[in-house]
Amino acid sequence: MILALRPPKMVEGEVYFQFTKEEIARLAEPFCYSVVLKFLKNRPSLDAVRAFIHSRWGLMAILVVSSMRRPRNIFVRMANEADFTKALSREVCEINGIFYRAFRWSSDFNEDAEPSRVPVWVSLPGLPPNFYQQAFLNILMAPIGTFIRRDNSTRCATRTDGARLCVEVDAAKPLLSHFWIGAPELPSSRKQEIIYETLPAYCSSCNMQGHNARTCNPGKAGKNGGRKVNKKGRSETKMLIND
Ligand SMILES: [Zn+2]
Repeated sequence: MILALRPPKMVEGEVYFQFTKEEIARLAEPFCYSVVLKFLKNRPSLDAVRAFIHSRWGLMAILVVSSMRRPRNIFVRMANEADFTKALSREVCEINGIFYRAFRWSSDFNEDAEPSRVPVWVSLPGLPPNFYQQAFLNILMAPIGTFIRRDNSTRCATRTDGARLCVEVDAAKPLLSHFWIGAPELPSSRKQEIIYETLPAYCSSCNMQGHNARTCNPGKAGKNGGRKVNKKGRSETKMLIND
């Protein structure tokens, strides 16, 4: 891509460069199918992760596995949307017995604050098989998050006691427990329950998963994560350089 040349600017003795949102977005395009794997314990070596993904994930194209600033995080860059979807919606998130959480990468991804949007498997118990089409489920999932994919038995309608799908949910928001297909309380309408299989707690105070704001222990989080949090509860982006 062509970037217009521009001189550095200065404010209060600080040198800075200004780019438009569009420029930043275009620079990120080659990485649009990338995920970050955050391992809960010391992660396997990059070679072990590459070998595991190659033999177990069933991806179509080659991928790049690389390290990040934080030693437990791994950057996995895929070549197409189908591979990306598979990577984000693995049912068991472990490599050689070490568990991880998968996050969609974007140009504003901050290693020091876990994103609250996470892939979660949900069931819609009792949903009849005529409603298992992707376009239909995509519509139903809009109030919950972003539809990622259906499991195989839902896709092929070989198990018909309900649908099961992977959705990117915002764990920081209250969860929707049910919705209606058709106007509420009408005899012809269907009240649909939503069961969340693996929703992690999210702490809006320190921006970490695994606990919530009520059970937050900043001292412990600081020891484990080494993060510093400012008054607004956001991790300092400056830490990326100084840490
Ligand atoms: Zn917390």
